[in-house]
Amino acid sequence: MAIRQHDIRTENQRLVIEQLRRHGMLTRSGVVEQTGLTVPTVSAIFRELQERSLIKPADRSVTTGGRRAEAFCLNGEANRALAVHVGVHDLTWAVVDLAGKVLHKEVVGAARFRGGMFVTHLRNTINAALKHCREQGFNLQGIGISFPGVVDQENRITLAPNIGGEGVVLADLVEDGVGLPVHIDNDARLGALAEIWWRASQPEQTIAFLMVDYGVGVGLAMDGRVHAGKNFAAGDIGHAVVDPRGERCACGQFGCLETFISYSALVRRINDQIRLGRPTVLLPAGAAEPQMESLSQIMDAAQAGDDVAAEAIREAGRYLAIAVSMLNVIIAPDVVYIGGAFSRVYDLLVEAMQPILHHRGPELHRQGLRIEPAVFLADTSLMGAAALVFEHRLGGSNKKG
Ligand SMILES: [Zn+2]
Repeated sequence: MAIRQHDIRTENQRLVIEQLRRHGMLTRSGVVEQTGLTVPTVSAIFRELQERSLIKPADRSVTTGGRRAEAFCLNGEANRALAVHVGVHDLTWAVVDLAGKVLHKEVVGAARFRGGMFVTHLRNTINAALKHCREQGFNLQGIGISFPGVVDQENRITLAPNIGGEGVVLADLVEDGVGLPVHIDNDARLGALAEIWWRASQPEQTIAFLMVDYGVGVGLAMDGRVHAGKNFAAGDIGHAVVDPRGERCACGQFGCLETFISYSALVRRINDQIRLGRPTVLLPAGAAEPQMESLSQIMDAAQAGDDVAAEAIREAGRYLAIAVSMLNVIIAPDVVYIGGAFSRVYDLLVEAMQPILHHRGPELHRQGLRIEPAVFLADTSLMGAAALVFEHRLGGSNKKG
C-alpha cells in the first residue's frame, strides 16, 4: 500500500468515475458540466479510462441540441473486487463491481477469534471465495480486506487487541499463489472510504466514521481523502482512556473508551442485571448461563424489544456521545456516520446520545452536528474494502499520511 503523491490526472479520473457512478451514465459534455473540467481534459480522461476498460459506451446515446452524443457508463463487468471484512467472530466476503453492485455475499461464522486464529480462516475463506468466482466466471481486479486493528504501510498488523495477529503481514499470506493484488486497511478507515465512494451525494468535507463493533475506532476523511496519521494509527479512539479507574482493556490499559462501549461492556452490564433478577431473553428459562456468545445475539435481543439488552446498549450510547463530543471539538466533522454491528440498533443508540450531545461542549460545536447511519450499516467497511481495490486500480491510495 505504497503512499503515492496524487497527481492531478489521477485526481481528475476519480472525479469522472465518481460522476459516472452517481449518474449511471453521462456524455462528455455531461461530465464537463458536472465537474467543471475542460472539454479536452474530459476527452483525454474518457480515452484513457476506456483503454483501461474502466468505462465503456452506454447502450443508448443522448441527444443534445439536435446532435447525438455518446454516453458512457462504468464498466462493472471488467472491474470486480473481492472484498473481505474480518470480524472478531466471523468473516464476510462479497464480490462488488465498480458501479457498487454486489454480485454475491457470504458470512462465514467461526468461534471467537483470539490470538491471530483468524489467519487460517481468512486464508480458507479467500480460497473458497476465489473458487466461487472462478466457477461464476467473475474476473477479479484485486482483493480488499477490512481489518479490526492497525495495519501499517507494509500491510503488517501492528495493533489488534481484540483479535491478535500482531506482526503478521496479511498480504503476504494471502497473495501467495493467488496472483491478485491484495490491499488491507483498518475497518473504520475503510468505512470512511466507503462513505466517500458509495454515497449517492457528494462527500462532505470532513467525515468521521465511527466503527462501533467489538471495539471502537474512527475513520477520518478530509476533502475526499482518508487520513491515516502517524504510524497509520489515526482514529484509534477506542483506546483513549476516559476513566483511569475503569476496567482493564484488552490493550492492557485501564478505562479505555472501548471498555464502556464494546461487547464486553454489554456482557458485563447484562450480567449485572441478571444478578438483580431482571428477566431477559438472553437467559432463557432453564438455561444455566446467559446466551450471548456474540454481539449479534445481544443486538437481536434489543431489536426484539428486550429491555435488559436495550438498556445496556443505551448506556454504551451515552459513552459514545462522549466520543462524538471529543471528535466534535477536535476535528469538527460535518457529519458523523455510525457503522459496525451497533449500527443495527442505530435509533436506540442515537436516542441515548442526544441528551448528552445537546448539553456537552460549547454551543458553537454543538451547532449543526449531524449523526447518520453508515451508508451500508454493518456492511460499510466491507464495501470500503471493495473501494480500496478500485482506488488502487485508479492509481491512487487515498491516504493522507
Ligand atoms: Zn484499550
